[in-house]
Amino acid sequence: MKRIPLAGPWITEREVAAVAEAAASAWYADAHAHEERFERAFAAYHGARFAVALPSCTSAIHLALAALGIGPGDEVVVPEITWIATAAPVAYLGATPVFADVEEETLCLSPDSFAGCITPRTRAVIPVDLYGAIPEMDRIRAVAAAGGIAVIEDAAEAIGSEYRGGKAGRFGDIGAFSFHGSKTLTTGEGGMAILDDEALHRRILVLRDHGRAPGDTSYRNAEVGFKYRMSALQAALGLAQLGRIDELVARKRRIHDWYRRRLTGLPSVRLIGERDGVRSSHWLVTVIVEEAPGPAKDDLVAALGECGVDARPVFHPLSSLPAFRDSPDAERARRANPVAARVSARGVNLPSAPVLTEKEVAYVCDRLEAVLGGAPPSRQAASAAS
Ligand SMILES: *Cc1c(COP(=O)(O)O)cnc(C)c1O
Repeated sequence: MKRIPLAGPWITEREVAAVAEAAASAWYADAHAHEERFERAFAAYHGARFAVALPSCTSAIHLALAALGIGPGDEVVVPEITWIATAAPVAYLGATPVFADVEEETLCLSPDSFAGCITPRTRAVIPVDLYGAIPEMDRIRAVAAAGGIAVIEDAAEAIGSEYRGGKAGRFGDIGAFSFHGSKTLTTGEGGMAILDDEALHRRILVLRDHGRAPGDTSYRNAEVGFKYRMSALQAALGLAQLGRIDELVARKRRIHDWYRRRLTGLPSVRLIGERDGVRSSHWLVTVIVEEAPGPAKDDLVAALGECGVDARPVFHPLSSLPAFRDSPDAERARRANPVAARVSARGVNLPSAPVLTEKEVAYVCDRLEAVLGGAPPSRQAASAAS
């Protein structure tokens, strides 16, 4: 049986031609031309002054924190429910991640919980646009501004989402994006930081290239930096994908709409939708199983897997991961964040790849309904095939 994939790219001849062109031309004096073109187009799309192309979103968050001067003794607030890449760079720099609770409706950072996490050591907060949704940014920004706290928006999953007319990635001092192969716009691996502040931009450029100012030909490095550059082949792919961004986002929204129509009649699950004022690019369709007791998320994912449906458990609370077991804030967070624990235990991402058909989405919904209804998965798979 052909599996129904969770996530992946939508590549056309346009992208293939762009990469072939770069492979032939992006050398010698033109070695960085594609990267610069991609940066300019990406900044223009977001209405940002600067965009910096990078090898990943993880490196974008790392550089953002480093450029802000964050290090040992500093605290950075992150939401419990996110990919580890939001918090790992905090640890790279010897700073302490502080885990805040999320909101029931969006699974995004709770402004109240964030406010409650602030101490004299808090230097930054990293709200995450989870699965394409956008947290209550007006309130998060107000709390941050009152405390002199920098905001890094992790928009890895939300390119093309909007909040009160502004684009995802524009609600912090720095916005960070991922172009990993699972994301809405892909370069295979890749990332971008966007920002308006000139001094911070310059600092990021120096840190990105082994402590050298842009254009340096002296080879006398001013400090030890990082090596975080995007290749021309990735940039060419990204630029071609960006040219199709409206189409990519529209397809994601259409897939969500197919699910919404089929799942409305299924009271045992709650589909994560859009809050007022938000237009989500719906990176991954997410449902929370509401009916108690209901299957645990791992059992649900396994049962769907047996039917050829690649579902995925919603992220586990960061404070529950072995990776953060000994992190200074983890024990407090495990007691303090009940919403994260509850939604994570009952949340599942459903196939959302842009290559899906409406028929495949209908099949996923039928399987979900059958699994929640308790029929053994093997019998369902057999009846689906007949
Ligand atoms: C994918 C992702 C990242 C990391 O992106 P990479 O490009 O793989 O480094 C960071 N944060 C979130 C929320 C993500 O989903």
